[in-house]
Amino acid sequence: MKPQDFDKIVSPISVAHFSQYKLMNLVLQRLEKLGFSVCSPSEIEGSIWDRKILMGHECISIHPTNEGLKVGTSYLKEGKMEEREFHCSILVGSDGARSTVRKLVDIDMKGERNLQRLVSVHFLSKDLGQYLLHERPGMLFFIFNPDAIGVLVAHDLDQGEFVLQIPYYSPQQKIEDFSFKVCEQIILKLVGWKLVDVQVLDIKPWVMHAEVAEKYVSHNNRVILVGDAAHRFPPAGGFGMNTGIQDAHNLAWKISSMLSGIASPSIIRTYEMERRPIAIYNTLLSVENFRAAMSVPAALGLDPAIANSVHRVINSSLCSILPPSLQKFALEGIFSIGRAQLSELILNENNPVGSLRLSRLKKIFDEGKSLQLQFPAEDLGFCYKEGALVAECGEKIWETEASSVRKRDLRPYIPCAKPGCRLPHMLINALKESSAKASFSTLDLISGDKIEFLLIIAPIKESYRLARASTMVAKEFDVPLKVCIIWPKGSSDKNVNSSEKELEPWKNFIDVEEAITPTSKSWWELCQMSSNGVILVRPDDHIAWRTESSSIADDFLELKRVFNLLLGHDKFLL
Ligand SMILES: Cc1cc2nc3c(=O)[nH]c(=O)nc-3n(C[C@H](O)[C@H](O)[C@H](O)COP(=O)(O)OP(=O)(O)OC[C@H]3O[C@@H](n4cnc5c(N)ncnc54)[C@H](O)[C@@H]3O)c2cc1C
Repeated sequence: MKPQDFDKIVSPISVAHFSQYKLMNLVLQRLEKLGFSVCSPSEIEGSIWDRKILMGHECISIHPTNEGLKVGTSYLKEGKMEEREFHCSILVGSDGARSTVRKLVDIDMKGERNLQRLVSVHFLSKDLGQYLLHERPGMLFFIFNPDAIGVLVAHDLDQGEFVLQIPYYSPQQKIEDFSFKVCEQIILKLVGWKLVDVQVLDIKPWVMHAEVAEKYVSHNNRVILVGDAAHRFPPAGGFGMNTGIQDAHNLAWKISSMLSGIASPSIIRTYEMERRPIAIYNTLLSVENFRAAMSVPAALGLDPAIANSVHRVINSSLCSILPPSLQKFALEGIFSIGRAQLSELILNENNPVGSLRLSRLKKIFDEGKSLQLQFPAEDLGFCYKEGALVAECGEKIWETEASSVRKRDLRPYIPCAKPGCRLPHMLINALKESSAKASFSTLDLISGDKIEFLLIIAPIKESYRLARASTMVAKEFDVPLKVCIIWPKGSSDKNVNSSEKELEPWKNFIDVEEAITPTSKSWWELCQMSSNGVILVRPDDHIAWRTESSSIADDFLELKRVFNLLLGHDKFLL
């Protein structure tokens, strides 16, 4: 990563490399603070599951009932498998790439399968961590040498914690071949010297696919897939878990507003409409990025496509009659001949083949054509084209199908306030607070722990009028709404009046002013709107609707249209 990657201009938060299991612990801690408790099967008594996280329970069956769903689970108690049933109105299948929930409700995956088989080896070595920290700090190490090939993910250099990915070819190579001892030897071969303290913790096989579920929602909006259960892509570009987190963020407020009666059950369908196209897009991008990463071994004479062809030949009918041990021997023999291309004898400037390969390699890196790790246009700029969104009266939300433009180039994130886009970030200060109060982001205006829409306006007559109408319509729809009035930079010095009088008797509002920032743009310029602009933001930070306050003929009628469409019901349609 480069220093500018840590500039906090387009987001209040900079990029980070953070291990998933550490994130998991943070999430569990947060849930416990919110009153949830984590229970093991032996700690559970009776049938009150409210606010309990039941560890060790595996979903094994799903049956629709008149009231909702009956979900069967199994768990291990005192060495014996036991079963337990739950009744629920919604089941969110977040059970990973091999999702049982997805299989139980018969949802197929679409895309490319079995791109690569790998063994993942979680290990500790402070010796290696300290060496890399001081000599070659980094996050990902692609290691190619005549003895072994692997990708080392440095989870924590200081603690010496790593996960190594080793490609393997079944059925000749089996996961059982990768014992703790064998994995330790592979680590030493990759590192090239004897580490004093390698401790292998865990070994797991996994298969790389590039697939998206044909649908995300089933059983009358009651069974919903999120995360890897809904999409699985090559881990190239950091999209997998991030896409899953976005799914959950998109879904949470929809489930909550449906269960609290604010929205109609049909709002769940907008989850699939919004999230599935993003998963399809990210799958294509990850595959492109994975192929670009493979250009490096290909330039070294180790084209993975050739390895796959060799493997196919060995699997072919002619070779498959050989005893398995001979097939394995042949495969490993061919691979070790392949790896010999990496010996210093071949790969040096004086050898014509080696020199050509090294110059190809240099070109790939100089032109930035290898693995790309940051995708600001996709990470922050992902945008929904249809769903729980409302176009301005008589307008289309999106004129062109922008999502068909696919490019692995590093594209900048351009903030935008069109419906479906994520609310742009800008630093602001609360107008009433003392000047010592730190600036905060427009994204912090969104409540993280309750359903609340946000209406952003400028302090002008027409927008106040529209805000008053919005608060009344929101009340009629039982929708919590906060109004934020963004004043221009320097307004606090001019002692401007608060918006209290304008919005009376509404109390849920906040006056803020634009903070001094490195970009000279005003909020409305950043959003590419005039200061007559009004922006309605959903509880998941995405823009639900926007307009110019001066352009609305009948505020109440227009706002009823907006909330009806957003929440998927027509009870207030005139
Ligand atoms: C090598 C590698 C590197 C990666 N790097 C990145 C990266 O840098 N950035 C990124 O964003 N993503 C990355 N990913 C992808 C990321 O790990 C996944 O996208 C993410 O873990 C998916 O989260 P999930 O919660 O949907 O599924 P999982 O993390 O797989 O969790 C599923 C959970 O469900 C449980 N479960 C399974 N079956 C059942 C059942 N029947 N009943 C109940 N529970 C069940 C499992 O035990 C597990 O706890 C990487 C993946 C790999 C393999």
